[in-house]
Amino acid sequence: MVRFEQALAIVKERLSEAKPSPAVEVLPLDRVRGRVLAEGIFADRDYPPFHRAIRDGYALRSADLSALPAILQRVGQARAGEHWAGTLGPGQCIEIMTGAPLPDGADAVVMIEHVNERGQEVEVPHALRPFENVVRKGSEAASGGRVLSRGRCLNAAEIGLLAAVGQAQVKIFAEPRVAILPTGDEVVPVEQRPEWFQVRNSNAVALCAQVASAGGTPRLVGIAPDQPETLRRLILEGLEADLLLLSGGVSVGKYDFVRQVLNELGAEFYIQGVAIRPGKPLVFGRVREKFFFGLPGNPVSTFVTFELFVRPAIALLGGAEFAGVTFLRARLARPFQQKTGLTAFMPARVESEEGAPVVRLVGWQGSGDLVGVAAANCFLVVRPEQTELAAGDWVDVLKN
Ligand code: AMP
Ligand code: MG
Repeated sequence: MVRFEQALAIVKERLSEAKPSPAVEVLPLDRVRGRVLAEGIFADRDYPPFHRAIRDGYALRSADLSALPAILQRVGQARAGEHWAGTLGPGQCIEIMTGAPLPDGADAVVMIEHVNERGQEVEVPHALRPFENVVRKGSEAASGGRVLSRGRCLNAAEIGLLAAVGQAQVKIFAEPRVAILPTGDEVVPVEQRPEWFQVRNSNAVALCAQVASAGGTPRLVGIAPDQPETLRRLILEGLEADLLLLSGGVSVGKYDFVRQVLNELGAEFYIQGVAIRPGKPLVFGRVREKFFFGLPGNPVSTFVTFELFVRPAIALLGGAEFAGVTFLRARLARPFQQKTGLTAFMPARVESEEGAPVVRLVGWQGSGDLVGVAAANCFLVVRPEQTELAAGDWVDVLKN
């Protein structure tokens, strides 16, 4: 059994070694949100393309402000979308609006609120540093410079940048296909009314949503009974995808056949058990050239192990930069003790209290309790060595 950090490193190493090379397609910007860029993007010109005023006021020569107050002559106007074609001489200024280019000769903008205007005369009461209230040409990006790297996941900011540099369409990696195979004789389709001793197939439905949000295309492969032959057939079907996710049947129970069947198919196991709670029986490996995860079937275990290991794996398979798992920090509302030797992930809520993030556990009945997870907005992360935590301690949380 490995520690959480080691397990994540193994997933990263194995997937990086395999050097996934997804297919590439060209898509318009309204279809790329959440997708992974398959090419580097370079600035088509300087950004900004000219020295740009960032205040409404007067463009002037900062050297003219050595004796104060300075009296300057207004000789023209520049508004956004236009430029003033002349060259500013000593003692001159032009009225300028936010977004307009500075004229030649000018090197700063004084804010309209700070001057006294008298006809054509403008009185400036204070000095300005060169380029005060101006963003210099090329300071955001120089023409030809890289603005986005291959492997970048595209969200609103990146998509806005693509539009700014004139990329109306871009090369995008195809999403990895992710097969989802729930197992268990007690599991019935969501549409079916369960007998009192059965449960609905919530795992596959939650996994579908998680896969889609992680940048994969989910594909459901039925429900496997706890019976080796059918399980084997469905596993082979699932291996047509780029990644196979199994849920349930990975522990050591009498009817847990997942590891046995994968073994018979010649699987290599890279992880068999992680020191986490929930999710300890997790397995990860490769069979017939495809990676697989066997996620423990308890709904909370499935949910957490997906977030910890499968989400980063899907990113790598999809050509994205490895993002790992980012924990944020919050203050613990109440003292907490544990002596399990495991890294615990417990459904919790983090909320802002007097400006600081504070985390408190939600009531839950253990790893089967989806009601608890749905009431949570994060998981409180407690490491094996953190056996005694006091109220107010800074702790890690995993946002979900
Ligand atoms: P297992 O990992 O197969 O021992 O399953 C552990 C628990 O998770 C059992 O209580 C199962 O009923 C439950 N479980 C397994 N698969 C699913 C599923 N697809 N949807 C909801 N609950 C499940
Ligand atoms: Mg089972």
